[in-house]
Amino acid sequence: MVSEKLMKALNDQLNYEFESAHYYLAMAAYCADQDLDGFENFFLVQAEEERFHAMKFFNFIKEMDGRVSMQQMREPKNDFNSLKEVFETALSHEESVTKRIYNLMDIAKEERQHATISWLNWFVDEQVEEESTMKGIIKKLERLEGNSHGIFMLDKEMAQRTFTPPTNE
Ligand code: MG
Repeated sequence: MVSEKLMKALNDQLNYEFESAHYYLAMAAYCADQDLDGFENFFLVQAEEERFHAMKFFNFIKEMDGRVSMQQMREPKNDFNSLKEVFETALSHEESVTKRIYNLMDIAKEERQHATISWLNWFVDEQVEEESTMKGIIKKLERLEGNSHGIFMLDKEMAQRTFTPPTNE
């Protein structure tokens, strides 16, 4: 039995994951406007991943006999001064997601809700990957500062990213 408090926190996170998709679509649109098709693709795939995360919450809430309720989304940041700023914003967004997942985990632990603790572990691992991806790209961008050929090559690399939902879910 999931408490009302934990259920509300799960539902809030479901909404935050959809909001994350919204944030990444705004970043994809900025990259498209800069003719960086590969980076646009990177953020389109990232947005798909976030919708996948949101739907994991959707299904889990249902499985735990809860009721999903959709909330209003905030307007994302649409304007950026540089590609580096886009990724710095993405990293700080992921850091805020991590904090929220940890907070959810704290509530689940307080309530000794073992099913939720076990289920949330996937997200704890996922956040390590998300933050590390963003940090890695920021490092590359710092090294390439002012090197337009390098950015072009990195853009090509970003074009390769595809969305594949994990098969063991
Ligand atoms: Mg997410």
